[in-house]
Amino acid sequence: MAIVDPGEAEPVRAALDRLGRTPVAILCTHHHGDHVGAITELVADYPMPVYGPAHEAIPGLTHPVSGKDEVVLPALDLTLRVIDVPGHTAGHIAYYGNGLLFCGDTLFSAGCGRLFEGTAEQMCHSLQQLAALPADTLVFCAHEYTESGLHFALAVEPGNAEARRYLDEVIVLRQHHRPSLPSTIGRERAVNPFLRGGQSQVRASAEAFAHQPLTSECEVFGALRRWKDSFTR
Ligand SMILES: [Zn+2]
Repeated sequence: MAIVDPGEAEPVRAALDRLGRTPVAILCTHHHGDHVGAITELVADYPMPVYGPAHEAIPGLTHPVSGKDEVVLPALDLTLRVIDVPGHTAGHIAYYGNGLLFCGDTLFSAGCGRLFEGTAEQMCHSLQQLAALPADTLVFCAHEYTESGLHFALAVEPGNAEARRYLDEVIVLRQHHRPSLPSTIGRERAVNPFLRGGQSQVRASAEAFAHQPLTSECEVFGALRRWKDSFTR
């Protein structure tokens, strides 16, 4: 087992105990406290390598990695490729392999991370790289923001029937305290407005918000991101 972005130690310990496993590595996507807060504590209990972005300050980092590096975990028979995805933070990375994507705060289901350190252009290109992965890739986002993301998605694209079906499904899951995650890249391409800047309805909604014509997908992305920053339903 590997641990991705441990913000708190207790739920990780509980999961390890329940499953009777010993972790072999920590994989970290970016430097925010809710993703790295438990690294020091967990490494003290279970000595193991800590992989993380080469260009950010990560506590206990033993294996700095960046774009196109590989993380090889023989104990799990797993090799993950590192993808640079700047935008939410400047050095943010994602891990992809064996049909799995660990994308931290870059891609959420029906949403994406806020731009704390990067530009809209950078984040747009980061998301385009993730959207190009195979449709059946399982997407392990770092936060359960799907329901609020879908309300925004439907404000952008009221006619998106798949987003509407997905929202109905997610509301039931959340009522039963179940996660909506993982998602898939195929589903995100169908419902996530931040991956759909090329769709005419998405562009029209973004232009209405921005009060100006938007000529590129990344301009549409930038307008959507500003809109979402102030969106409440
Ligand atoms: Zn973050």
